[in-house]
Amino acid sequence: MQVVVVGSGYAGTLVANRVSKKVKDAEITVINPRPDFVERVRLHQQIAGTASAATPLVEVLREGITARVGTVDKIGNGTVALTDGARIDFDYVFLAVGSTVAPMPGTVPVGTWEGAQQAREALTALPAGSQVTVIGGGPTGIETAAEIAEARTDLRVRLVGSAVGGGLADGARRRLRAGLERLTIDIVDDDVLEIGSGAGQFDGVVRLRLGWDLASDLTLWAIVSDVPDLAARSGLAVDPRGRAVVDEFLRSVSDERIFAVGDCAAVPGARFACYTALPQAIHAADNFARLHKGRKPKPHSFPYWNRGISLGRKDAITQFTHADDSVRRAYLAGRVAVTLKEMGAHSAFSTARAGVSSF
Ligand SMILES: Cc1cc2nc3c(=O)[nH]c(=O)nc-3n(C[C@H](O)[C@H](O)[C@H](O)COP(=O)(O)OP(=O)(O)OC[C@H]3O[C@@H](n4cnc5c(N)ncnc54)[C@H](O)[C@@H]3O)c2cc1C
Repeated sequence: MQVVVVGSGYAGTLVANRVSKKVKDAEITVINPRPDFVERVRLHQQIAGTASAATPLVEVLREGITARVGTVDKIGNGTVALTDGARIDFDYVFLAVGSTVAPMPGTVPVGTWEGAQQAREALTALPAGSQVTVIGGGPTGIETAAEIAEARTDLRVRLVGSAVGGGLADGARRRLRAGLERLTIDIVDDDVLEIGSGAGQFDGVVRLRLGWDLASDLTLWAIVSDVPDLAARSGLAVDPRGRAVVDEFLRSVSDERIFAVGDCAAVPGARFACYTALPQAIHAADNFARLHKGRKPKPHSFPYWNRGISLGRKDAITQFTHADDSVRRAYLAGRVAVTLKEMGAHSAFSTARAGVSSF
């Protein structure tokens, strides 16, 4: 039984480890563009130099799993084709290629490993007094701006977004903005129209919709909006965002041999989060094991209960939610929220590595 896992982020790594535990005769090959597992939830820390986000795949994949460094170009009828020309036959595929970014020219994206490395280098080279602009008022932008402001107090940090902290309830949003201001972050509630080029590769003028022009020495794009087009390119049914359309068992509606999990799967109600990717991976692996034993797969469901946003290492917000992810009024802030956020990040890593549910 040949099982190919495309992408070794949270979802792919967890699937591979769990299938290897549950289906002893599965020969598992994991294909990933780099030899490391990247903890994307720590990319803002990687950029600010407060943590390392990469761990060698050999340390997170169980013995017996083959890790193949490469990029999948197309998933065909029973075969995956890699960009280096190799082809691998499969009985089942798990599509777990995550999400990606579509940065404005003149900015460095922070939502991918390559972008984060570039951002870290650019940030390290910035002299004291330089202006950093982070574009994106969602969790990625907020966490990135806060991490940099706390780690590099010699820099000026500005956060630009149409609704900074807009996904939170009123109380949590006010507390979040107070936390950002305490870190001396300049919050600009507006959309970016374009980036005017400067003397260097990533400096220039950030042009806002309301007519302001802001000078910036380093502009970071902190919006994760897209998914890789592998599913669409492979002829699988995709939703308008390009995510693979799946049935209630997390299989592609185009091909029952293909499970799709994590950010690249159009699971109803799911947002881009390792918080949703991990339960999906567990469920898909278990459904695969059930099918393998001749049993019926079970439908996937997942209740939300919170959203965590870090504000550097000493502050955070936990916004409590209803099961459908709509926000409650209740929230936590400060040390307790920091502990919850760190426990979440730590448990995401250990769940993926162990292949065992901690939910
Ligand atoms: C700064 C930041 C902070 C975040 N904080 C949180 C948080 O606090 N809580 C939370 O729940 N979520 C958070 N997220 C979101 C979370 O990281 C993602 O939702 C999560 O990583 C999705 O997991 P995944 O396995 O689907 O995809 P990923 O972790 O992105 O893994 C996908 C893998 O597939 C690989 N891949 C892509 N294309 C191919 C291809 N063609 N062939 C082979 N491999 C391929 C990628 O290189 C990658 O290794 C954060 C994201 C960022 C950027």
